Amino acid sequence: MPPMVVAAEIHKHFGSLHALQGVSLEVEPGEVLCIIGPSGSGKSTLLRCINQLESVDGGAVWVDGELAGFRQEGDSLYALTDREVARQRLASGMVFQRFNLFAHMTVLANIIEGPVTVQKRPKAQMVAEAMTLLQRVGLADKRDAYPAELSGGQQQRIAIARALAMKPKLMLFDEPTSALDPELVGEVLAVMRDLAASGMTMIVVTHELGFAREVAGRVVFMDRGRIVEMGPPQQVLGSPREARTRDFI
Ligand code: ADP
Ligand code: MG
Repeated sequence: MPPMVVAAEIHKHFGSLHALQGVSLEVEPGEVLCIIGPSGSGKSTLLRCINQLESVDGGAVWVDGELAGFRQEGDSLYALTDREVARQRLASGMVFQRFNLFAHMTVLANIIEGPVTVQKRPKAQMVAEAMTLLQRVGLADKRDAYPAELSGGQQQRIAIARALAMKPKLMLFDEPTSALDPELVGEVLAVMRDLAASGMTMIVVTHELGFAREVAGRVVFMDRGRIVEMGPPQQVLGSPREARTRDFI
């Protein structure tokens, strides 16, 4: 099977800051890749480039065989319009550190919003699918609640359900538990663990080294815009660098 994600020598600048300095990686279908590293090392920027929230200045990204930002016809490449980029982006779902639920909408409305308005899927069918997703994250009884009535952990589980409702081929997580009270971290990681077991391809930026050790196929360690180590968790997290990692994060 071709890789789900290919990043080939990608570079990203913010003014004079060289935030990504030639980052290359591949993620296989069904693989869970965890990214660790100190603050400011480029982890979020890498995820945003993979999800096309940022364009790269050098190199290229493919998701599910499609070159990000371009359409291929024969031997020719055509740059996509913003709207076409947005459509291409639907292959990946993203969950951020802070819950990005719409405050004025119920849980159910949050989940069906994207599929109904963007993907034009029938509302009745989406309500049924949303209920299945809510059961999967253990929150079926919260369908009519508003985000402010939920704990941070519950909101993050809803954010995951909402991303899944778009039927992504790839899920990207950017420190999904970093903003949570410690006692709420476990319930979110449990949902992510189930998702990994179901075969979802996942890239997870996290400080939860226990999760990385247990669930990741490979771990990437980033520092100052580069991948400095990549390998099985026992290799990357078992090396002396682990002590450094703990100092940094
Ligand atoms: P991490 O997620 O590893 O903490 P980031 O990818 O957020 O790191 O940031 C990498 C570097 O790029 C940091 O120095 C950060 O300040 C900078 N950066 C990120 N996004 C922007 C932006 N939109 N504009 C300017 N600088 C940015
Ligand atoms: Mg970040």
